[in-house]
Amino acid sequence: MTAIFENYESPWLNDELRILQDAARKFFTTEFTPHVNAWNEAGLVDRSAWTLAGQAGLLCAEVPTEYGGGGGSYLHETVVAEEQLRAGVSGWGNQVHSQIVAPYILNYGREDQRQHWLPKMATGEMVGAIAMTEPNTGSDLQAVRTTAIKDGDDYVINGSKTYITNGQHCDLVIVVAKTDPSQGAKGISLIVVETDNPGFKRGRNLEKLGQHSADTSEMFFADCRVPQAALLGDEEGKGFIHLMQQLPQERLNIAQAAVVEMERAIGITIDFVKERKAFGQRVLDFQNTKFKLAEAKTEALIARTFVDQCLIKHINGELDPATASMAKYWTTQKQNEIIDECLQLHGGAGFMDEYEISRMYRDARVQKIYGGTNEIMKELIGRTLD
Ligand SMILES: Cc1cc2nc3c(=O)[nH]c(=O)nc-3n(C[C@H](O)[C@H](O)[C@H](O)COP(=O)(O)OP(=O)(O)OC[C@H]3O[C@@H](n4cnc5c(N)ncnc54)[C@H](O)[C@@H]3O)c2cc1C
Repeated sequence: MTAIFENYESPWLNDELRILQDAARKFFTTEFTPHVNAWNEAGLVDRSAWTLAGQAGLLCAEVPTEYGGGGGSYLHETVVAEEQLRAGVSGWGNQVHSQIVAPYILNYGREDQRQHWLPKMATGEMVGAIAMTEPNTGSDLQAVRTTAIKDGDDYVINGSKTYITNGQHCDLVIVVAKTDPSQGAKGISLIVVETDNPGFKRGRNLEKLGQHSADTSEMFFADCRVPQAALLGDEEGKGFIHLMQQLPQERLNIAQAAVVEMERAIGITIDFVKERKAFGQRVLDFQNTKFKLAEAKTEALIARTFVDQCLIKHINGELDPATASMAKYWTTQKQNEIIDECLQLHGGAGFMDEYEISRMYRDARVQKIYGGTNEIMKELIGRTLD
């Protein structure tokens, strides 16, 4: 595929990260890409994908080596996530596992919790999920109805969750639940449930518009009894604060993915329009094609430089929620617009499943929805105006 930027390289890339980039690229293109069609048809990546990636050292890249992780930084996670997407593997939920669930345990868990779960997550023996969304509430997280009520030495969890990434494969799930249902945000805690618990039940693997191999499920908790030690951290009622602290990173992950997908769409389309002929010339030679791709390339470079800047801010601990929201909202909006234009330049081929651009079109849509909808992103940005 054509590389689209001749004179730009992300300023945070260094030699060590380039070595990881090469290794991740080789791993994903050899071990994952050949299975993508089969996984899409199955509606699920193979469970062995997790252990293979663990053996290759690509899970939990940011987790310190003392807990079995890669001992890197968020930049290492970013490199792995970018290469996964460049290899055309959109449905494998490692971003949730390594960039969301592992950091919650690392940042807010007790030492015994870190030692118990992180090494198994780093090998792929355990797959992680996080369950915030419920059938009746998504954007309004304070309104979750799942409860975790103390009973003797235990919590008893009741409620249901939906649209949960890694729902079929997960071995542990961080459940957002009310330990004090009389309160709003202050009553929310994070509880870790291992999925062999008899009170936990997986629901359906949900059929979706895109990202067909992504494992997205309902889950049910019926008198699900866990020891009080399953509370993430030491203190009840901190869950909402922890969610608010971690959500900017989740939004940055999504923005990063949007940028990679824009770049891929443009590269794939340049290759296509150079080959395809109409009216005796290459489709690339029509002025409309050049203008559309020139616009797309300009916007993709703006997106890349903005997200690079956010990334640098994030590793320095300076990325504020509104800027992360700007990155998530704008890049995912542009991802959808650019992929739509690129699909159009493919003509009928763009509508055919066998062309990558059609899959990218379907996969892109959810980017404007999950991780906080783009309307919620604008709400958060709007709060900085007054
Ligand atoms: C493929 C996929 C994977 C997901 N993975 C996970 C996961 O792993 N864990 C998890 O917990 N969740 C997950 N989600 C859920 C996702 O985060 C929610 O769907 C999303 O936050 C929106 O919530 P909702 O679906 O309840 O929509 P609603 O909150 O019901 O929103 C409906 C509409 O109302 C708008 N709206 C709501 N509030 C406002 C407001 N204040 N101002 C303006 N407009 C508003 C929304 O923007 C939207 O357009 C996933 C979803 C999908 C589709």
